[in-house]
Amino acid sequence: MSRTGKPAGKDETLTIIESQQLRKSSARPKTPKTHEMGGTAALKDKLERPELVFTDEVKHKTAAIYEQLKSVIVEAEWPKIAPYIAAINDLKAVRNAVILAHNYMTPDIFHGVADFSGDSLQLAKQAAKTDADVIVQCGVHFMAETAKILNPEKTVLIPDMEAGCSLAESITAEDVQALREAYPGVPIVTYVNTSAAVKAQCDICCTSANALQVVESLNADRVIMVPDKYLAQNVAAQTEVEIIAWEGRCEVHERFTAPQLRSFREAVPGLKIIAHPECPPEVLKEADFAGSTSGMIKWVENMKPENVMLVTECSMSDNVAVEHPDVKFIRPCHLCPHMQRITLPKILDSLLMMGKEVHVDPEIAAQARRSVERMISVTK
Ligand code: SF4
Repeated sequence: MSRTGKPAGKDETLTIIESQQLRKSSARPKTPKTHEMGGTAALKDKLERPELVFTDEVKHKTAAIYEQLKSVIVEAEWPKIAPYIAAINDLKAVRNAVILAHNYMTPDIFHGVADFSGDSLQLAKQAAKTDADVIVQCGVHFMAETAKILNPEKTVLIPDMEAGCSLAESITAEDVQALREAYPGVPIVTYVNTSAAVKAQCDICCTSANALQVVESLNADRVIMVPDKYLAQNVAAQTEVEIIAWEGRCEVHERFTAPQLRSFREAVPGLKIIAHPECPPEVLKEADFAGSTSGMIKWVENMKPENVMLVTECSMSDNVAVEHPDVKFIRPCHLCPHMQRITLPKILDSLLMMGKEVHVDPEIAAQARRSVERMISVTK
């Protein structure tokens, strides 16, 4: 039985709201993108572009990095990549900058120039501990906003302002207000993959690692979860709290299917499959373990499987493989087109020009920070 006294059949404890059900007009309100810093301030800060040549000095400076990356980057490519890595690492010192790299960044970024790597929340928390003046967020736009929300005094740059996310873009602050009107008194949990404006309108944030814990911490019979339909379904399968979900999906994780996973298992005897909770529930049922990107990395570290398949964005397999040469990674590759927008040349430009600065309205930032800090306090 559920807390409401109704039978706890999962069909009755999950409702999915289509965005059109709540919108009064068909026009899709756009979440405004924060903008690139321009004008004289940017020009004053501009630095000379270094020569990008594979000199002996560059070769020497990047030798240890290539040693680490040689299993995923062919030697013939290195003379093109190494000058960027050397230039970016030099510029970080000049700018007193740190680079945060999400687990889905390509290995040249993840292992070549990042100071911190992890999931979006780990990155923002790490940044809050540094003395750096500048944070370069190598990830997508909502992650840069989260870094700014938690580090309002620092300059936060994103190398490509168009690096978006299908989940973050599926919902606006106006949609959340409409949900509040439709379901008065029902608490709203937002997945971290949303804009600052959406976080500001919600009661509490969650990550894929703590979504169940956050939902149950609210002591409510019904909870609204936005925007990831699959994460909400996966939580609904583990709780008696009635979940009202938003019809948002990750365009990368929704492409995995249960038959696809079964065919990999048949082809590779003993294969371990670990999946991200943004995948559909039938995919998670096929997996040996489900967890956030950081949870998946820890699982590989602890279990040391002979053969493993990470059912998530495929750059992550390359990044984890670099650190686990004894584990064979089977890669059912789906790349995130938004994450792929972040490249070494764009990171270099960001640091040279102090370009693509992320701003969040201070009032919205304060409200959004409350949602994030509330999550941190209930999941300590
Ligand atoms: S992988 Fe999915 S959730 Fe992550 S940024 Fe890309 S679209 Fe968004």
